[in-house]
Amino acid sequence: QAKQHGRNQYQLFDPSLDQQITSNHQTINRIKKALQANEFVLHYQPKVNMRTGVIVGMEALLRWQHPTKGMIRPLDFLPHIEKTELIVDIGVWVMNQAMQQISIWVKAGKSWVISINIAALHFQRIDFLQHLKDALVRHPNVPPNLLEIELLESVALGDINEVSQLIRDCQALGVSFALDDFGTGYSSLNYLKRLPAETLKIDQSFVRDILDDNDDLIMIEAIINMGKVFNRRIIAEGVETAEHGVLLMRLGCDFAQGYGIAKPMPEMQVVAWANTYVADPAWSMWADTQWE
Ligand code: C2E
Ligand code: MG
Ligand code: MG
Ligand code: MG
Repeated sequence: QAKQHGRNQYQLFDPSLDQQITSNHQTINRIKKALQANEFVLHYQPKVNMRTGVIVGMEALLRWQHPTKGMIRPLDFLPHIEKTELIVDIGVWVMNQAMQQISIWVKAGKSWVISINIAALHFQRIDFLQHLKDALVRHPNVPPNLLEIELLESVALGDINEVSQLIRDCQALGVSFALDDFGTGYSSLNYLKRLPAETLKIDQSFVRDILDDNDDLIMIEAIINMGKVFNRRIIAEGVETAEHGVLLMRLGCDFAQGYGIAKPMPEMQVVAWANTYVADPAWSMWADTQWE
C-alpha cells in the first residue's frame, strides 16, 4: 500500500518509527495514570536576597514518584507531553497544589512567593485565565500576590499582543510573572519591552561559567543592565557557590536560586530549612563593603 504513494512515503511505514509512536503513546498514557494515581509531588527550591539574607520565595518543581523507578525528574517525562492536552491537566494540578501549600505556609506565618512553571501551550489556551481564577476561588486564604508564574521565552512565539494582554489580566488578579531561562530563547529587546513580566530569571547555563568564561560574564552583565533599563527584577538561577553569588551581586543582581543556597526539597523539609538558614557570610561581607 505504501508503494502507491511513491518511494518517499516509505519512511512512514518504517517499523522502528511505528514502534516509537506506540511507545510514545504508552508513555503518555502512563503519565496520565500517574496524575490520576497521585504519583506527582512538588519539591520546593528557595530564592533568596543575597544582600539581605532574606528568603523571598520558593520555586515549585514537579517530581514523579514512580512506584518502581523511584523519583523521576521533569525533563525525563515532560517533553513527551508538552504538546498534548495532558500538560494542561498537569498545569492545573500544579497550580492548585501550590496554592494549597501557600495557604499552609501563610498559616505558619511564612509569606513566601511561590513560583510555578507553566508550559507555553497551557498559558496560550483560551481557558488559562479561568483555570487561575478557579484555583484562586478554591483557595480563598491564598493572597494572589504570593503566586508567581514562570514562563519560558517561547511564549513569545504566540501572538505577542494576546500573550502580553493575558499577562496583564493575570496581574490584575494580583499574580506576578517571571521570564524563565532568560537569554536562551528569543530575547529580543522588543519582546522584553512588550512582555510585562516583573522578573527576569537569568538562565543557569550563563551563571555556571561566569567565574572563568568572560563571554558569559559579559552576557550576564548585559542582561542585568537591560533588565534595569526596563525596570525588571533580576534573579540568577544555578548559583552553586558563594563566589558565584559575590560576582553576581557585584554585577548588580541580588536575587539568587541554586544548589549553593539549597537544592529543591520536599515540602516537609522547607520550614525547618528556612528556620536555620543563614546567608553565606561572604555575601553579607561583600554587601557591606564597596567593590573596587
Ligand atoms: P527551570 O524552571 O529552569 O528550573 C530550574 C531547574 O534547575 C530545576 O531542575 C532545578 O532543580 C535545577 N537547579 C536549581 N539550582 C541548580 C543548580 O545550582 N545547579 C544545577 N545544575 N541545577 C539547578 P528540575 O527540577 O529538574 O526541572 C527542570 C525543568 O523542568 C524546569 O526548569 C522547568 O522548565 C521544568 N519544570 C519543572 N517543574 C515543572 C512544572 O511543574 N510544570 C512545567 N510545565 N515544567 C516544569
Ligand atoms: Mg522555572
Ligand atoms: Mg529556569
Ligand atoms: Mg530550565
